[in-house]
Amino acid sequence: MQTHQNYINGAWQPALAGGTREVINPANSQVLARVADSQVEDTKLAIAAAREAFYGHGTWRRMSGPRRAELLFAVADAIKARADELARIDCLDNGKPLREARSDVDDAAACFRYYAGLIGKPQGGIYEVGDGFGPMHAYSLHEPIGVCGLITPWNYPLLMAAGKLAPALAAGNSVVFKPSELTPLSAIALFEIFEQVGLPPGTANLVLGTGPAAGQELAQSHDVDMITFTGSTRTGQTIATAAVGNLKKVGLELGGKSPNIVFADADLEGAVEWAMIGVFFNQGQVCSAGSRLLVERRIADRFVARLAERANAMTIGPGLENPDLGALVSQAQLDKVLGYIETAKAQGARLVCGGSRYTDGDCAKGFFVRPTIFDQCRPDMDIVREEVFGPVVTVQTFDSEAAAIAMANDTIYGLAGGVFTADGARALRVMKELRAGITWINCYNPTFNEAPWGGYKMSGYGRDLGIYGLQEYQQVKQVNINL
Ligand code: NAD
Repeated sequence: MQTHQNYINGAWQPALAGGTREVINPANSQVLARVADSQVEDTKLAIAAAREAFYGHGTWRRMSGPRRAELLFAVADAIKARADELARIDCLDNGKPLREARSDVDDAAACFRYYAGLIGKPQGGIYEVGDGFGPMHAYSLHEPIGVCGLITPWNYPLLMAAGKLAPALAAGNSVVFKPSELTPLSAIALFEIFEQVGLPPGTANLVLGTGPAAGQELAQSHDVDMITFTGSTRTGQTIATAAVGNLKKVGLELGGKSPNIVFADADLEGAVEWAMIGVFFNQGQVCSAGSRLLVERRIADRFVARLAERANAMTIGPGLENPDLGALVSQAQLDKVLGYIETAKAQGARLVCGGSRYTDGDCAKGFFVRPTIFDQCRPDMDIVREEVFGPVVTVQTFDSEAAAIAMANDTIYGLAGGVFTADGARALRVMKELRAGITWINCYNPTFNEAPWGGYKMSGYGRDLGIYGLQEYQQVKQVNINL
């Protein structure tokens, strides 16, 4: 079985202490690969390499935007060339259906293409200034931040890697990337691609290992200029606290408990289909999942009955068989989701469908959960308040627009939200009132590299994707010229 190493300063190397860890296939609990189990010293080595690349030889940051873009376009082409292989890797590593993994690969390539295109476009501005000093011009210059630490979760392994690496590199930074220890394999392939296209040594470094051992140093090191993190709110708090020592810039994309509001005048069939995508896509392991359905009372019974019919018809199985629902990522995630289901029952939510592990056929040793719907949910229940991160949705009912908005915003999170109605003005009114960074009207889940992504409240701060996603990785310098 292959053991994958860290990629530091342009070379593949084992963890300094020699440790390795297993990567598990969640569809059958078998070991897929072994990877380096990095410790603080490995991360320090990677940080030193990134520092030398940025503050020492500075090859990447001094390269013209168009030349950097050329290399990033080459990365996109190489991702496409290995698309089937990469999709298979994420499918086996994460448990997701193969077609979803394949679509992630296309999005990841498009992300590199988007930022490669963007870096050549005009940025900054020119200002006429000088009152009291005689004629002057000022302009603003976008510069890379320096050494960036990037940490990602396991739910979209390759796509999350692309969403951070593409803009950070396009901007001219040096990076140390730590993927989730549960799903590191597509990141390893991506770094093979970086090596193949010829990124200068030390520009992009890969450290494999757990959060506390390998990730935390990226947050606390004074040699790192920025940390960007996608993951749980609790870890985000740990990272923000650790980062305070040198006041490095912090970007946090955290958890959610997003409302999906369905008014009685909505196209019911359409709303059901989008609600399914909203909560069961990627086995519900989506930060923006519409995991709280808020349904106008007079259609609630009909809506829930139709949703349950659709949920019960979902196929479940190993990702390679392209089911509707694959495996959850790990035993720990399975236990967590089943625990929330039991608590919901104990707290009086009504189980409409699902509610248990799925072990039929070749799923016996995998981490599968049936698509689960609870109705008659109260706002104080754990299942309504806490992020489950699994194929579980709660249903609450409302009688007025104001009640729907209040219910939607009754959460510590503010990542996403959806509104379904045939009344265009109401759709816009409700959307404006949602305290959330990503909203959908008469749809749920479509996401684009071009549009900014991020949360309000305890879902974090900063933005990934779009032009904002590039600016996150840039400093803005003011230049004043005495004419
Ligand atoms: P997690 O917080 O457990 O881990 C995320 C990453 O952080 C992993 O790479 C992990 O190794 C690392 N980590 C853990 N402890 C660390 C520490 N002390 N210092 C540095 N790094 C550390 O989250 P997860 O279980 O991998 O992912 C699920 C969570 O991610 C959910 O809460 C989900 O909502 C969130 N998420 C958010 C977004 C978004 O865009 N807002 C997207 C995807 C996932």
